Amino acid sequence: MAKMLRRDRARQYFADAFLTNKIHHSGWSHKAKRPDHLNAYWKLIRTATDFGMRIFLAPNLGETTDAFDRPFTIGGQFCRDNKIKLVSRSFSTLAHELAHAVDHILGGTKTRAECELVAAAAGYFLTCEVFGVISPSFDVRYAKRQGATPQDWQRMEEYAWYVFEEMLIPFGGSK
Ligand SMILES: [Zn+2]
Repeated sequence: MAKMLRRDRARQYFADAFLTNKIHHSGWSHKAKRPDHLNAYWKLIRTATDFGMRIFLAPNLGETTDAFDRPFTIGGQFCRDNKIKLVSRSFSTLAHELAHAVDHILGGTKTRAECELVAAAAGYFLTCEVFGVISPSFDVRYAKRQGATPQDWQRMEEYAWYVFEEMLIPFGGSK
């Protein structure tokens, strides 16, 4: 069997976990390399800057509620005046927020559930591409909490992939 590209494996894991609720992979894969996180983080900051974003660290962004009215702590925020706020220097959170920004530029989503599903998936794909394939459970659970359904995934999968590629190219990944 041909070797699967990291990004294709990430896409399959996300889709499987989202559609079946089965998480069959956890932690870092044995093949995953963990390049310097901070280095990759600064590279992604430069990518976000290229998209016209300004990034701010805020010690506390407060709490909000999910689609089921359960509270959760905000880790990052994309604001429509081209600002991204983060509570910590986290690559995966920045990838998620940058995906929101790219989606906003492309204008491909309508509902909050669609927005969060696309950001969760595209952010996860980029994180896997850079660090190796990890469990999609956090991002899948997050998108579901925001009300995303299997129908949303079927409608948005191709678009989420497109948002991922739009981030990957300026980041310096190869297609
Ligand atoms: Zn989000």
